[in-house]
Amino acid sequence: MVAKTKYDEIKKFEGDLEQCMKCGFCTFWCPVYQEEWVESSVARGKNMMIRGLLAGDLEYTKEFAARLNKCTLCMACTANCPAKANIPNIIVAARADTVKARGVKFPYNIVYRCVLPRRTLFGNIVRFASWFQGVFLPRTEGTIRHLAMFLSALGKGRNIPQIAPKFLRQIVPVVNRPPAGVETRMKVGYFTGCMTDFVFPELGEHIIDFLTRNGVEVVVPKEQGCCGAPAFLGAGDFDTGRKLADTNIKAFEDVDYIVSDCATCTSSLKDYAKYLADTPERKEAYARFGEKVYDISQFLVDVLKLPASAYRAAPEVKGKKVTWHDPCHLVRHLGIKDQPRQIIKSIPDVEYVEMPNADRCCGMAGTFSVYYYDLSKKIADKKVESIRSTGADIVVSSCPGCEIQLIDSTIRNKLPVKVMHIMELLQ
Ligand code: SF4
Ligand code: SF4
Repeated sequence: MVAKTKYDEIKKFEGDLEQCMKCGFCTFWCPVYQEEWVESSVARGKNMMIRGLLAGDLEYTKEFAARLNKCTLCMACTANCPAKANIPNIIVAARADTVKARGVKFPYNIVYRCVLPRRTLFGNIVRFASWFQGVFLPRTEGTIRHLAMFLSALGKGRNIPQIAPKFLRQIVPVVNRPPAGVETRMKVGYFTGCMTDFVFPELGEHIIDFLTRNGVEVVVPKEQGCCGAPAFLGAGDFDTGRKLADTNIKAFEDVDYIVSDCATCTSSLKDYAKYLADTPERKEAYARFGEKVYDISQFLVDVLKLPASAYRAAPEVKGKKVTWHDPCHLVRHLGIKDQPRQIIKSIPDVEYVEMPNADRCCGMAGTFSVYYYDLSKKIADKKVESIRSTGADIVVSSCPGCEIQLIDSTIRNKLPVKVMHIMELLQ
């Protein structure tokens, strides 16, 4: 029993809690409910659980926390809710109140509080993992390794891309200027995120090259850290979230725009103000910071306003059929739907095909897929069938987390499509 819990964070979103009229429309859209058919999986059920908590009828127990965690924060419930009740807000807040009352459990307390905020330590641990992979594990196809033995909590036999031998921050300079003869139109900060830094550095190099060729000076501050999503959204560890928010704000204070190639990072950086601001000073600083943050496709279309001719096909994608997967954080959290499609459709030499349910969650959702890999796989399998129905050669997205999920699920389902980041389509 946790008698001292105060529910301060939940109370900030009481409006959303009361908004729900229990109609049950969310049951048609919730990817977790559609697999489990259990009321506690869906927004309505979670809302009732949290109301029960506030009323004193329910207590935070291990089972309560587990049921609360069974949510990908995809926001499909909110997007299709007639009352526009934002239950994911309350779920995140409830996770935070749980942490206030019970703390963060081992080993996640070490990961969130000691490793994530220390970029060098984080990098060294990832490097050790990379070395361990290289020594002990056989290569599978391409750059994918099968991690059945290693990092069993994370791996669980899934196909995970190889950790890069060199991280992006070790490869690129802090300041990257446009080449000779190209006028500098603006200066942006590049938020690389952990995945691009540690797993897909060639994507980061390509983005810097593309932006500089198009007149953008790209600054990659070494001081930047993790966006904090696994800690504050996934685990409700708002203290760690604040530490990372303060670090990132300081790292990017000299730029007018911050671009990110990861939908989850972009959304999380913008969410600092909503969830983590605990003082008027932080509220103002977090809000100001959030306004500077742009998804890469949104930046190219809405800020840089590149002409269609700027989008040329990379040699390996010419003549291919391409489909697009909407990351939840992009399409529903940020409302970005048209920009990536506009970019893909502008590329000559590739054929765009829309997949059915392109905006359905892929089931990754960070730590959700670590805790509930079997459930995550079932959600992903539906996405794979959508991709299969298009006959596409390539599925693109703009979230390295979704990409990892799509790589794993297409290999498992023997679907021979290539998974790419949208920027990799471009020359
Ligand atoms: S969250 Fe929205 S869709 Fe779901 S039961 Fe409540 S009002 Fe209906
Ligand atoms: S955010 Fe997604 S997974 Fe969570 S309750 Fe809503 S629809 Fe279900």
